[in-house]
Amino acid sequence: MKAYAGPARPGEVNLDADGTWPLAESLRSGQELLVDDITERFGALPAGSWGARPQRACVLPLHRTEGSPPRAVMVAGMSPHRALDERYRLLLRAAADQVTSVAANARAYEEERRRAEALAEIDRSKIAFFSNVSHEFRTPLTLILGPVEKALSEPEHALLGSDLEAVHRSSLRLLRLVNSLLEFTRAEAGRFQVSFEPVDLAVLTAGLAGSFQSLLEDAGLRLIVDCAPLPEPIYVDRSHWEKVVLNLISNAFKFTFEGQIGVVLRWQEDRVELRISDTGTGIPEPELSRIFERFHRVEGARGRSFEGTGIGLALVHELVKLHGGSVAVQSTEGEGSTFIVSLPTGSQHLPQDRIAIPRKHEAAGNSLSPYVLEAAHWTASADPSAPALADRDLFFQDSDVSSGWGPCPS
Ligand code: ADP
Repeated sequence: MKAYAGPARPGEVNLDADGTWPLAESLRSGQELLVDDITERFGALPAGSWGARPQRACVLPLHRTEGSPPRAVMVAGMSPHRALDERYRLLLRAAADQVTSVAANARAYEEERRRAEALAEIDRSKIAFFSNVSHEFRTPLTLILGPVEKALSEPEHALLGSDLEAVHRSSLRLLRLVNSLLEFTRAEAGRFQVSFEPVDLAVLTAGLAGSFQSLLEDAGLRLIVDCAPLPEPIYVDRSHWEKVVLNLISNAFKFTFEGQIGVVLRWQEDRVELRISDTGTGIPEPELSRIFERFHRVEGARGRSFEGTGIGLALVHELVKLHGGSVAVQSTEGEGSTFIVSLPTGSQHLPQDRIAIPRKHEAAGNSLSPYVLEAAHWTASADPSAPALADRDLFFQDSDVSSGWGPCPS
């Protein structure tokens, strides 16, 4: 038998402006409703196998559990040969209960499937995490073990000169890795220390971008910083904002071999928008939707370094979210990428107990941040004639910039 597809069975129903069945009314009141003018409403309905064209219908709300508000409604056409007595009502109610239980089973199955998918996703990201992290740990460990084993095989048992420096540099890289992992775990568990204060975001952001200036110039790239003064201070956690900006610029540098990197900050009434753009390798289209996922890296991406754990962008995402903002990416492979961070202005959206009195800060960019130092290694390793970096600088950071990334307190 062909299914009925007339006006009494609309594909979609707008509950607010429903001219077909009194569905909204039944949902609101939780009552069964009798509709006894269906021929006027919809014209003649099909008679079905019994040759009995329904003249009336009953709209029955479907409750998940007894007494709970209805979540759906069922419309049952009624036989013109039967009176609507108590037995008929009970039959309709029993049919409605059957539909409810079938829908509840389907929903439970669907939820179970979603849970299984979420667990599989966690499993996948755990595997990605372990393979990224073990790879990332193995490189500096190998670079430490080599000189140490060499020193142990010699009678002096001493580490000196470039061997000592290599061990030191690799230990710092390990420490930074562990710190960034701890930081990310804190973010995920919602245990981030956060303190919002009104900040001149244009000055702070321009200062952070400026710390990359000479590194970029040395690498033959142009840095364009356009952070026009903003009409009012923006509430941010300074150290978190620094991580957002530095992560994005160091990524831009990592994946850009020629052209320029732009850092543009704009006031947009209720929001302030930061755009960090590059003319680098770009991100393949199918990767864009997953780029902010933790531990996700683009397979075979061409960058200045193969190092990476895939937590940088996930951390940026968490930090921006903490500010009530959002981060998005636009990218074309072979042309470049733009990361757009948008923060609400004002402080209404922030937890009021996290708003601090503004402190006096040193201008950012006075000292090299660990991000700039690490990025400098990428050019140093690309160009063996480049001077080695003074890793000890890592110990002398502005406390805001290096918090969570510098050495452990002794
Ligand atoms: P990591 O750099 O440690 O791998 P991220 O989370 O910072 O982790 O970045 C994830 C991936 O996103 C990178 O591996 C890279 O493939 C891609 N990516 C990030 N920023 C850029 C960029 N500006 N240009 C091209 N690819 C990028």
